[in-house]
Amino acid sequence: MIPIRALQHYAYCPHRWGMLYMEGRWAENAHTVKGDLLHENVHREALLRSSGAGMAFGGVSLYSERLGIYGKADRIELLRCNKGTAAAGAPCAYRVRLIEYKPTAPKGEIPAAERLQLYAQTCCAQEIFQAPVEACMYYADTRRRVAVAFDEEDEAFLQRILSAIRSAQERGALPPIVLQKGCSGCSMAGECMPRVKTTNVREAIRRCLCESS
Ligand code: SF4
Repeated sequence: MIPIRALQHYAYCPHRWGMLYMEGRWAENAHTVKGDLLHENVHREALLRSSGAGMAFGGVSLYSERLGIYGKADRIELLRCNKGTAAAGAPCAYRVRLIEYKPTAPKGEIPAAERLQLYAQTCCAQEIFQAPVEACMYYADTRRRVAVAFDEEDEAFLQRILSAIRSAQERGALPPIVLQKGCSGCSMAGECMPRVKTTNVREAIRRCLCESS
């Protein structure tokens, strides 16, 4: 089983995923600390709210047998609704809504790695509740929820990332460093040093030998 967080890390950067999941390294920055504090708050209470309108739960464990993944939803709401689905174990019909909390709203589109995380969580919740699931991002800085709809491209991207992770695990080699836009906000940049060019000693000697012959 692959953690949903690992999917998100691999989609952000395969090398970062390798440092975390193959080498067990981790470094924090302001962005990761903000995110952790926000999630600690949301996950603190299992039952966040119960009213005539429905129930809200924090830090809900998720898994999918179909995809071989597991993780946690920040918040799941069961909203009482006549046309809803009778969720397993619930006394009446509900709509199921899943919410992922983020500290800051993106300037443009939702980043691919975050969208993948939300899609993977939604797939798990659909499998567990055997019902359609509404998915939202909640941004703490703007205090706004944004509904997210998925399509077949999200499923294809998830399958690509899953198979890339499984192949990387089989190879057992750390994926290479690729300098990219995300490097500037990456908490592992100090360990990875993507702007430092490494010298391939073997290649340098081979070149010297060729030039002197
Ligand atoms: S600094 Fe860049 S290349 Fe290195 S782990 Fe982070 S995102 Fe990946």
